[in-house]
Amino acid sequence: MTEVLFEATGLTRRYRQCTAVDDVDLAVRAGAALGIVGESGSGKSTLLRMLLALEEPDSGAVRYRGHELRAGDAGKLRWFRREVQAVFQDPRGSLNPRWTVGRSIAEPLGCLGLDGDHAERVTEVLADVGLEPDVADRHPHEFSGGQCQRIALARAIAPGPRVLIGDEPVSAVDISTRAQVLELLGRLVRERELTLIFVSHDLGVVRHLCDDVVIFRAGRAVERGPAAEVLTTPSQPYTRRLVDSVPRMPV
Ligand code: ADP
Ligand code: MG
Repeated sequence: MTEVLFEATGLTRRYRQCTAVDDVDLAVRAGAALGIVGESGSGKSTLLRMLLALEEPDSGAVRYRGHELRAGDAGKLRWFRREVQAVFQDPRGSLNPRWTVGRSIAEPLGCLGLDGDHAERVTEVLADVGLEPDVADRHPHEFSGGQCQRIALARAIAPGPRVLIGDEPVSAVDISTRAQVLELLGRLVRERELTLIFVSHDLGVVRHLCDDVVIFRAGRAVERGPAAEVLTTPSQPYTRRLVDSVPRMPV
């Protein structure tokens, strides 16, 4: 059996107005690609923040390779962050606007105390995401949203993680370059044998990138299973509505 990387049990997060994540169990095995789908406000980002140890659950726990994650535990989190990296919706969110791109990509390498020539590593990962070495000397505002997401991906893969977590990474990218960024993401995951946890509104993309899917509604996991099955023959009416609400290309 492949190793279970993430295991969430009874994961619950309450805000003043609502229970954003409500008693969710989840397991992600090494090498798997898990899609998380659900309407806006269903708790997907809150779930990811807890998986990333950016936020603590009110009850329940997240274990990564058997170790319980605690948002304040800096020592253990360094090891964790080397293995688990993320890309978010806002293409510029992970880049400091005042820093060169190269500095933003190298920063986690320094924080994580990784050996080696960081400048060389920056050039390497820029090439991996289809960007020229001179991009390292420029600033985020000089690039489009799609290019910024490439840079964010370069930053995420630079420490050599095992797991990539994406929270709607192309929702804010111009529609004309979305497919290219997704293709890049898919290629990086394949070539590096990354474990993927991927939140998206685009069910077609989830079916393409993910083996399994969890359907979220009002903080709860209401349906799960192989993506090809769940997204074509859902058992829950809610999933059926999500599937049916996807606009189809006119023929
Ligand atoms: P999704 O990513 O599926 O759109 P979120 O996890 O962002 O959903 O939000 C789930 C629910 O939790 C929503 O009702 C949202 O308003 C609420 N929520 C999320 N983050 C916070 C926060 N920091 N403070 C208060 N409420 C929040
Ligand atoms: Mg969200």
